[in-house]
Amino acid sequence: MKMGLRTRLFFSHLVVMIVGVASLVSISKISSPRLFVLHLEGLENQGFDLIDVRAELVTGFELAWQRSTLWSVLVGTTAAGGLSYWVSRRITQRLTEMEQITQKFALGQMDARLPVSDIPELSGLSASFNRMAASLEGVEARRREVIGDMTHELRTPLTVVRGYLEELADGEIEASPEIYRRLARETKRLERLVNDLQELSKAEAGYLPINIQRINLRPLLESLMEKFTDQLLEDGPVLILKCPSVIPPVLADIDRTEQVLVNLLGNAVYYTNEGSITIDVGTEASQLWIAVIDTGIGIAPENLSHVFERFWRADQSRDRHSGGTGIGLTISHRLIELQGGKIQVESELGVGSTFRFFLPLA
Ligand code: ADP
Repeated sequence: MKMGLRTRLFFSHLVVMIVGVASLVSISKISSPRLFVLHLEGLENQGFDLIDVRAELVTGFELAWQRSTLWSVLVGTTAAGGLSYWVSRRITQRLTEMEQITQKFALGQMDARLPVSDIPELSGLSASFNRMAASLEGVEARRREVIGDMTHELRTPLTVVRGYLEELADGEIEASPEIYRRLARETKRLERLVNDLQELSKAEAGYLPINIQRINLRPLLESLMEKFTDQLLEDGPVLILKCPSVIPPVLADIDRTEQVLVNLLGNAVYYTNEGSITIDVGTEASQLWIAVIDTGIGIAPENLSHVFERFWRADQSRDRHSGGTGIGLTISHRLIELQGGKIQVESELGVGSTFRFFLPLA
């Protein structure tokens, strides 16, 4: 049979008490009468005549001793038993209360928190449970938000595809290569959305493996320059790399940094019709920064705070058709954060935008 904590505490107190009382009683039982007799002998030696009353005194003493021992054992055990009951109840009550609250939390009441206890160990347990609860609550809230946003995003292309398919089935429109191309475009968009979402969910949950190493970013910047220059149109913007030939190494994940740069450069190319796109590099305090500066359409001041939010696009209707998912910058933001850096944006409508991210120097 398993014994509850309260019974265990109570029994352990009881055992301690019994040992205490038993040793007190047995020691005094042995020593008190002897001491009393010795005392009497002392008195007799001093000249007191106790011959007649000696036996009487000894029995009287023993009676008195027995009575008071009985009373003290009774009162002592009751008081100690009561105290032990109270203490063990107080501790187990707290624990039962904590158990009930954690059960409520497990059943989905995400705002359930443990109260602070005056027992430091229990208080410590409450505090760590509460920390865990808060972080789980955050994850849960984000999960709900993502699902909400996601269904909203998926609905549009699905509605378009269904619309076309129904019209085709009913013979309302003629099947033409253009129609099929539109259908393919929408499904491609769905595919990209799903891929981006997978990446985003990994990044937000912190499951993306980040392999931080001491790296020199210059070769990466050069190869990206080449790749993006090939993509630019003849009459489009020019790509400029403003980077010293030797830059200090950083502590970062080269693949994730490339992913961020590809996103920033991709956006810059997409939103810039003429002028230039510059990759600028510099150091500040113990960090290296890389900025992608474009002379494109820019972002309105009231929108600047939203650019890193998931699914946010400046022009919802236009970009929904252009294929932007509004997730790229959210992922970039998270990737930079996971590498211990930060990312900022400055922009002026019609003038251009600067996206700058910082990485810790090695
Ligand atoms: P996507 O480009 O896939 O829509 P992003 O998260 O990369 O998603 O960007 C979010 C939005 O931020 C874009 O839709 C666009 O409105 C705005 N944006 C991003 N980069 C730039 C830029 N260089 N110039 C102007 N607007 C930009």
